[in-house]
Amino acid sequence: MTKQSVVASDAKLGNGLQAVSLQLLPEESCMEFSSGRNLVNNETEQEKIVSTSVAFMRASSPRRTRPTDSLPETDQDSCWGVDHPWALGMFEKIVSASRGKQIAMFLDYDGTLSPIVVDPDQAFMSEEMREVVKDTARYFPTAIVSGRCKEKVYGFVRLPGLIYAGSHGMDIRAPSKSRNEKGGNKAVSFQPASEFLPTIDEVYKILEERMKAIPGAKVETNKFCLSVHFRCVDEKEWAALAEQVTSVLKEYPELKLTYGRKVLEISPAINWNKGKALEFLLKSLGHANSDDVLPIYIGDDRTDEDAFKVLRDRGQGVGIVVSKVAKETSAAYYLREPSEVMYFLKGLVEWKRSSFRASA
Ligand SMILES: [Mg+2]
Repeated sequence: MTKQSVVASDAKLGNGLQAVSLQLLPEESCMEFSSGRNLVNNETEQEKIVSTSVAFMRASSPRRTRPTDSLPETDQDSCWGVDHPWALGMFEKIVSASRGKQIAMFLDYDGTLSPIVVDPDQAFMSEEMREVVKDTARYFPTAIVSGRCKEKVYGFVRLPGLIYAGSHGMDIRAPSKSRNEKGGNKAVSFQPASEFLPTIDEVYKILEERMKAIPGAKVETNKFCLSVHFRCVDEKEWAALAEQVTSVLKEYPELKLTYGRKVLEISPAINWNKGKALEFLLKSLGHANSDDVLPIYIGDDRTDEDAFKVLRDRGQGVGIVVSKVAKETSAAYYLREPSEVMYFLKGLVEWKRSSFRASA
């Protein structure tokens, strides 16, 4: 079990917002904390954690810029700096880095393949996107790595030839190297947080009840983790929502709270995340420590940063963050929205097809 200390101090968040931040032990990321009862000794500490939560809720919910009407030919509207080039503008460089290597594609779902919508149950991807992802999986091993539960994300994507890693990588179904009786690859399941299922179920029921008092709040169960959506909650109610969530979690030190786009995520406090899932999947695909693979990971959320960090630390692969607004990221490149992700994937498929034609 992860042990951590929480100390409140003034700090500047990535978007320039002045706020209270939490200092954590080194192995944990800067935007998560476990709210065990040992951490909350009195009301003042609880108030600090609530105000910190509200600050992070604001920091992780950037205002939208104006929508893009069609595929841009340039990134002239972008506020990203030179440190993070536009992936479509650097397409040639990215594909040339894959020469002699197998591209392995890792895709987040919400905000990457589908638009972020008010009702998370309505986050459908377009038919055009589905076709492109299907084509992508024909040429490259392709995994969907989502915070949603595996079954739910499969219900949205509906493509059988892909690898699915749900619940932030805590529920993986991937091919193994061994063959089944039909000559195909056997599937391997991996669920590093299965012992937490009863606790997650219990907390889900409590939070569902508590959130009835917060207009617009929605609790979603993702099997091994929970999402409290506040997209439809008036900002004046954010403190009340954070208070409810943290007061429940202080009774469950084995769980931790993290912050995503208009969502609070509650998950087991284990050292497992989308980055660990990425490493696990690379190993499953036979690329544990090899140079013959170019992993490309595309995602829009803070939880995707763990995967970007893995690629950066390996010095291998391409991390692409999906965001219209510049923000702190370990990704190397950016795309602004799912339509740009679609064009990037289309470009990869076309490039691969033309490579085949050239070698025929
Ligand atoms: Mg996402």
